[in-house]
Amino acid sequence: MPKEEFNPELAQQLAVANRILVAQSVLDTFGHVSVRDSLHKDRFLLARNMAPGAVRAEDIIAYDLDSKPIDAGGRSSYLERFIHGEIYRTHPEVNAVVHSHSASIIPFGTTDVPLKPIYHMASFLGAGAPIFEIREAGGDATDLLISNNALGKALAAKLGNAPVMLLRGHGDVAVGTSLRQAIFRAVFAEVNAKIAAQALLIGRGHANFLNEGESMAAAKTIDSQVARALELWESEALASMS
Ligand SMILES: [Zn+2]
Repeated sequence: MPKEEFNPELAQQLAVANRILVAQSVLDTFGHVSVRDSLHKDRFLLARNMAPGAVRAEDIIAYDLDSKPIDAGGRSSYLERFIHGEIYRTHPEVNAVVHSHSASIIPFGTTDVPLKPIYHMASFLGAGAPIFEIREAGGDATDLLISNNALGKALAAKLGNAPVMLLRGHGDVAVGTSLRQAIFRAVFAEVNAKIAAQALLIGRGHANFLNEGESMAAAKTIDSQVARALELWESEALASMS
């Protein structure tokens, strides 16, 4: 048995989060989701190196903010765990992080078309979605992965207060003050990217996005409705695990 200590309910919630994000087409066989440990604020929980769709509570490992496992018990770790450790270190208000390669978002990190809210469900994007350019932090010949603390630190700094950040040629990061909020943002950032691309296509490069005032007002309203989606998704995920 590993020596690590964390709330077993939180580990179960994280396993469920993995299943939800696969069901909602945010994670595939890659990508990961973490949550800040409720017992030790300088630790976070993350699944062992495995496909998210198969994660169970017993697959969860605790890490310190250097992204070193407390006691992996022989289990292997995700190559990009440094994304999580450095975001938790830099942003004390963040309690959950989703890193995905969700497909619809990729074009917005690789062109000069910014990812903006096309509809109210993704109004949180009105706060802006910066793009992390790994060439600035890691030079011209990286494998694109955030595979050490220096790259994680640069990524966390670029995130600032944004809820979502795009990683050029790679994917994105969505954060939240809660696991539910981070999941909601990751899911609707992906849906928004899909709709925005369609709108820009039929509008020949022009679409009427939410303005700043609409984004702020809608984000406040929609954030109060997060539980409605999550309660259903959680029950569906739990059913898939039994
Ligand atoms: Zn990645």
